[in-house]
Amino acid sequence: MSGAAALGCGDAPVLRERGQREVFCGLTGIIWLHRKIQDAFFLVVGSRTCAHLIQSAAGVMIFAEPRFATAIIDERDLAGMADANDELDRVVDQLLARRPEIRLLFLVGSCPSEVIKLDLSRAAERLSATHMPQVRVLNYSGSGIETTFTQGEDACLASLVPILPREAPGAGSSLLVVGALAEVVEDQLRRLLEGMGIADVRFMPPRSALALPPVGPNTRYLLAQPFLADTARALEARGAVRIPAPFPLGAEGTTAWLQAAASAFGVAPERFDDATRAPLGRARQALARHREQLAGKSIFFFPDSQLEIPLARFLQREMDMRLVEVGTPYLHRQHLAEELAMLPAGTALSEGQNVDRQLDRARAARPDLVVCGLGLANPLEAEGIGTKWSIELLFTPIQGYDQAADLAELFARPLNRRLRLRV
Ligand code: SF4
Repeated sequence: MSGAAALGCGDAPVLRERGQREVFCGLTGIIWLHRKIQDAFFLVVGSRTCAHLIQSAAGVMIFAEPRFATAIIDERDLAGMADANDELDRVVDQLLARRPEIRLLFLVGSCPSEVIKLDLSRAAERLSATHMPQVRVLNYSGSGIETTFTQGEDACLASLVPILPREAPGAGSSLLVVGALAEVVEDQLRRLLEGMGIADVRFMPPRSALALPPVGPNTRYLLAQPFLADTARALEARGAVRIPAPFPLGAEGTTAWLQAAASAFGVAPERFDDATRAPLGRARQALARHREQLAGKSIFFFPDSQLEIPLARFLQREMDMRLVEVGTPYLHRQHLAEELAMLPAGTALSEGQNVDRQLDRARAARPDLVVCGLGLANPLEAEGIGTKWSIELLFTPIQGYDQAADLAELFARPLNRRLRLRV
């Protein structure tokens, strides 16, 4: 079923589609999350397919001691579930004995029916009781039935919220930046925020399970990623208050994101300008080079990462690209209100997917570039349409001033390659 409806925030119409989807499941998030929380381990409870996905997507880890693995649960009937729990306990005992540095263990659920029958939250409680205080065991689902690939991060972070410590009594206001960012980006944003005088800045996920940020009514949180609906809800249930902002992509987005924090913490305009002037100038200069290549080019987003709307805003406003269609798997109107307000009136937005219809629209429009998942990229390339894999946008540091030009380059590169091939 599909249909058009008026959007509450702004007047852009949204085409809502329900049908076959071409997206990775939430297990994919493990690939960037395991690098981020350095004393955590992700144990997928799944099938051989899950093991395969995670191994091939994270093939780069072959020579390192990986911080993820798959416990393969073969087909078994309900009567075999007690054995499955025993087996899981045994695998966890072995793992923790071999890897004493682990402080936080995530049991990650998947979609095979034999895994769905297992109660992983009870298993996590049972294993936590055995292994605390050395190791805490949490669980979340990365199942492809429930999650698209970035929602795996949302589920993981939401599972962390209940174990965050309480704010100390009488604590002043603190800022919590929520969403996994590359360390280089995190360090830059911290320097900028501290440079404005915001002293108590924490990041979630933290780099170590021993550094969980406290949360409570004095916590103001700023989303660094647009796909964290469940995490935001869980933080608000603990009293934290969201600072509404666009996302820190591009020079303009980064400035607006920092400005939102500055306003919430009463930073004087001169101090904000002093802290941002130099990096903003550098970012604008670096972007100019790519604008020449991207201006006037048309782009079509298939729904995949939930980064599509902030990316479209950046490419249209700062790179002068033409938006043909901006698809997102899920449109969170509240978290994206500032972004939607910055898109040009009449932008074609779509939510959800009916992949065949969307492919027809892309083929008819023949955009210069399509942003999509890996499964769609090859067929579109074969038809002569340039593509960018949306998953690359999660593996590459793209937020903040110093990364703005790298972000633009990710879109300029496939266009250049096509130009060179044509010459
Ligand atoms: S969780 Fe489901 S969709 Fe993801 S790899 Fe395993 S079986 Fe496939």
